[in-house]
Amino acid sequence: MTGAGKGNYTESEEVRWGKFYEKLEKEIPRQFFEIFFNDIRPLEWNDERLIITSADEKILSHVKNRYYKIITSFAREVSNREIRVQFKVSEKTNAPVQENPKNEKQLNIFSEKHVEAPRLSPADNAKSYINKNYTFERFVKGPSNEYAYMAALGAAQAPKKFHNPLYLFGGVGLGKTHLMMAIANSVNQNFPWMKVLYVPSEAFQSDILEALQTKSKAGYQEKYRSADILLIDDIQFISERAEYTQEQIFHTFNHLYQHNKQIIISGDRPPQQLAMLKDRLISRFQSGLIVDIKPPNLETREAILISKSNEINFDVPRDVVRFIATHEKSQVRLLEAALIKLKFSCQITNKKVDLDLARQVLQELSVEQKADISIEDIVREVSINMAVRNEDILGKSRVEKIVLARHLAMYLARKAIPEMTLLNIANAFARNDHTTVLNAEKNIKMKMDSDAIFMENIKQLLNIITTQKKI
Ligand code: ADP
Ligand code: MG
Repeated sequence: MTGAGKGNYTESEEVRWGKFYEKLEKEIPRQFFEIFFNDIRPLEWNDERLIITSADEKILSHVKNRYYKIITSFAREVSNREIRVQFKVSEKTNAPVQENPKNEKQLNIFSEKHVEAPRLSPADNAKSYINKNYTFERFVKGPSNEYAYMAALGAAQAPKKFHNPLYLFGGVGLGKTHLMMAIANSVNQNFPWMKVLYVPSEAFQSDILEALQTKSKAGYQEKYRSADILLIDDIQFISERAEYTQEQIFHTFNHLYQHNKQIIISGDRPPQQLAMLKDRLISRFQSGLIVDIKPPNLETREAILISKSNEINFDVPRDVVRFIATHEKSQVRLLEAALIKLKFSCQITNKKVDLDLARQVLQELSVEQKADISIEDIVREVSINMAVRNEDILGKSRVEKIVLARHLAMYLARKAIPEMTLLNIANAFARNDHTTVLNAEKNIKMKMDSDAIFMENIKQLLNIITTQKKI
């Protein structure tokens, strides 16, 4: 097959890109990864260089400016060579704009379809930051978040007439981004003529720096100053040393404020505790309405679980809902993670949801959080390395190659996650007998003793897994 921008890729090159991409996914906070890395593809990867491409010039330039070092270091690690990394905007196409569902994005990455990803117009691009599922309807209210909810709704219903700025703050995973996007979605729907601009503060900063480098302020000023509603998420990520950025934010803020445009900011702490920001910026943030989101109480956690389980079509009995809500207190995101893991466990074990399964899943989650490395990480690596599907590794098949992959994953879990007991590991593989894991370990050790290449491969795999620790 030939085609513009298409090289001849072997299977191993695809695997290499897969590994590289997953390393990045682990390293870069999710909200940025989804925005900046969803559409990047390899154009060429040989012994000397890797060319990364995307149809979106802005995204590519941000990726290059901000992540060059880590990309190069991972690319070198994965290819085991001192290769260079280059970036190239891919050609325009007439292909229709299409969503890129997360689960499919890594299939056929070297195919023409992906290399020539459709170019989004700037307007589409701005909207594509926004998750359509984050709506007010899907936000569960409770005493911990109702002020924030009301304030966000107020801003969405009467943008420009509401308190300005609106500053939302609260801990990780408590719904700040959800509310900000709910505002954006609602305004887009009810006031389609208004220009809504949502940016993670990191992207804002990168736009400003880019303007500085290219010595043209016009582009970014026009972009931000023409907004009717500007939402800046996670303001705490603006760096202390970025004086120029802070100054620009200050000017943008003043401009929008004077023109009666709505500004909404989120942070993980109240403005006065943003020690990295200049006082005058802080006092601007303090001049409007400040509301906080606290961790939800038991009742709200239950309501959230029920709502999320409906969203994913997963029936969870009341006692299990109560059990999860009682044990997972700190973050809404973890409630969701528990539900998803529970659903997954039910699917692979073919069991009904009950308290025992829930207990086991929460136990695994808590161990994994402490451990930094999860069973899923290991299974994914083994799956890539041995070309066996994840589901098969976790399943019951007795096919020789699959059994070996499963044993290997168990062995690696023993090595890489010391916090997990034999029984924890057995449970994670839907087995309830710890001797399964001991057998797996024995089997792998025997094979390593008799096969030096196998041993080397495993060492490398273990290395990959343990250096992938989250920061
Ligand atoms: P933050 O930005 O504060 O770190 P997010 O807005 O990303 O948190 O929320 C994390 C996850 O929890 C999201 O999937 C979000 O939908 C969900 N979530 C948080 N609070 C609520 C809530 N009150 N109702 C429904 N979902 C919520
Ligand atoms: Mg957030």
